[in-house]
Amino acid sequence: MRGLVTKSTGSWYQVLGADNARYDCRIKGKFRTHGIKTTNPIAVGDWVNFEVEPDQESAIITKLEPRRNYIIRKSVNLSKQTQIIGANLDQAFLVVTLASPPTSFGFIDRFLVTAEAYSIPATLIFNKLDLFSDEGLEVLRAYEHIYEQIGYPCYEVSALTGKNMDSLKELLKDKTTLISGHSGVGKSTLINSLIPEAALRTGDISDWSDKGKHTTTFAEMMDLPFGGKLIDTPGIRELGVVDIEKQELSHFFPEMRSKLNTCRFHNCVHINEPGCTIIEAVEAGEIEPSRYESYLSIYNNENNRR
Ligand code: GDP
Repeated sequence: MRGLVTKSTGSWYQVLGADNARYDCRIKGKFRTHGIKTTNPIAVGDWVNFEVEPDQESAIITKLEPRRNYIIRKSVNLSKQTQIIGANLDQAFLVVTLASPPTSFGFIDRFLVTAEAYSIPATLIFNKLDLFSDEGLEVLRAYEHIYEQIGYPCYEVSALTGKNMDSLKELLKDKTTLISGHSGVGKSTLINSLIPEAALRTGDISDWSDKGKHTTTFAEMMDLPFGGKLIDTPGIRELGVVDIEKQELSHFFPEMRSKLNTCRFHNCVHINEPGCTIIEAVEAGEIEPSRYESYLSIYNNENNRR
């Protein structure tokens, strides 16, 4: 049967079958992963084929269909595991708070680069609007200005008070959206306000653990009551960029992309080459220094090829 993966623990996968029933599936043996090697060979949002076992209790995934796109991350900690956190997406939302907890430019930019690599439209959701003082709002608007100028839509919401949540609903309607962010930014509060039933899901997850099937829930796809699907991902502390050649990194910064053919050297990587129009644009204030710093940080710190 064909089905859509709606939950993943890394060892068990919940699959919504063509018959609209949900199956607890495992992986057995080898199947084609289309050249992508990750800690989790199957991700939420994947389309798969599966066979129900004779005991009718469980099922085995036998085939993974090629993905339209995906968001992948590498742990920056020792494990260096690469993990697909969602597949076949229409868009990706990053929930951001400037304080409690702070979200750094580096983290935001790594998320955006990862989304750009597969042309997944990305939106920044600035949460906890109710906590901002007038001065705080000024800082917030400065952040928004940086990203809106480059073409990333920014929304200010308060998941707690419900402020601007209707505009989020319009964006989410009838789309498959991955939602991500540091732990503590209010992602669960936001999801519970969009999907009242989601507030009950803690119990649902422990049901899984009662069956002895639960390790760590990586991600979960939920139906939005007004149409569309939301892929919730566990809070992410750090995000390593994967799958991008250093030479190509600037292609995933939209504000650099338009200038790439104007550098003196065709193989310029915009670090210290003479006649580099990207460096000139940073010096002229046309490219935001924080964005260029993120470029340098990713360029220097990440071995971008797996
Ligand atoms: P998650 O880890 O991203 O899922 O974050 P939670 O949804 O668990 O929220 C973390 C904390 O932030 C909780 O104490 C929430 O009540 C609080 N919180 C979430 N959204 C808002 C908001 O819009 N305003 C304020 N003031 N607090 C919020």
